[in-house]
Order: sequence, then structure tokens, then C-alpha cells
Amino acid sequence: MKSFSEFNEGNSKDLHHNGFKITFKMNKTFSEEDKIKFFSMLDLAAGYLKVKNCTIHITKSGDSDASGRTNHCNVRYDKNIEKMVETLAHELTHIKQHLVGDFVDSDEPFDYDHGVWKGKRAKIYTSGVKYHHSPWEVEARDIARKLIGLWKRFNK
Ligand SMILES: [Zn+2]
Repeated sequence: MKSFSEFNEGNSKDLHHNGFKITFKMNKTFSEEDKIKFFSMLDLAAGYLKVKNCTIHITKSGDSDASGRTNHCNVRYDKNIEKMVETLAHELTHIKQHLVGDFVDSDEPFDYDHGVWKGKRAKIYTSGVKYHHSPWEVEARDIARKLIGLWKRFNK
């Protein structure tokens, strides 16, 4: 069996790709094939969204999410690589939304329940129908779907 050390840096399982850092918060990393497929989406999404230098944590459990402020996102591991790279595209879209100023933190202190979407104060829901229909979620899903369409042309 091949060990992780093939693409290890030091003692970690971190991967580095075009300025992005990918860390595994689990005792697993990508197969060579999945690594190529993952990087293929990363390049596609990074170019389309104009995001760079993010840290991407691959997590074993918990929700996938993104923080534009810290330029990092969590992507939940899925053995279905297509599902996983769609999540990656979705979370990178959230990074872009923060980067271009479409979706930023509320300017009121400690107001974590609200953000500012395209200049307007908006309530942040964490689950349910209202979460699903939040404009930033709708956009993230739309862009991820579009990118998955392109990705599939190159990754069968
Ligand atoms: Zn989302």
C-alpha cells in the first residue's frame, strides 16, 4: 500500500496547488485520480470566480461552509468525487461573494444573524426553506451547477 508520504509536506497531509492549500481534517487523503479531479474543479472554479490563495479543509463530518473573512472553507469529504467538487464550487462561490462585496458581515457589532447582501441588510438563516432560498445560496447553487457541467466534460 502506498503511504500518504508521496505528497506529504513534513508530517502533514497538506496539498498545495496553484496557491491553494488543502488540508485533511481526517485520516484520509485523495487517491491520485480524485486528486486530479479535485484540482481540475479547483482550477476551473478559481478561474471563473477569480478567487485565490484559499485554505480548504477537507472534513470528515459536519457542514461544509466558507468564511470570506478568513479566506477559508470546509468541504465535507464524500467518496462521490462529483458531489464533493460541486460542494467545493459552492463554497468557493461564497468566498467570491465576500471578496467582491456582494455578501459581507453586518456592520452592526455582534449582529451575527444578519449580513449585507448587495447593499441590503439580510437575515441569515442556518437551516430550512428560508436558508435554501437565501439569494447567496441560490447563487452558489447556480454557479456550482454551471461549473459541474463544465467539469464533467473533462472528467468522466
Ligand atoms: Zn452555501
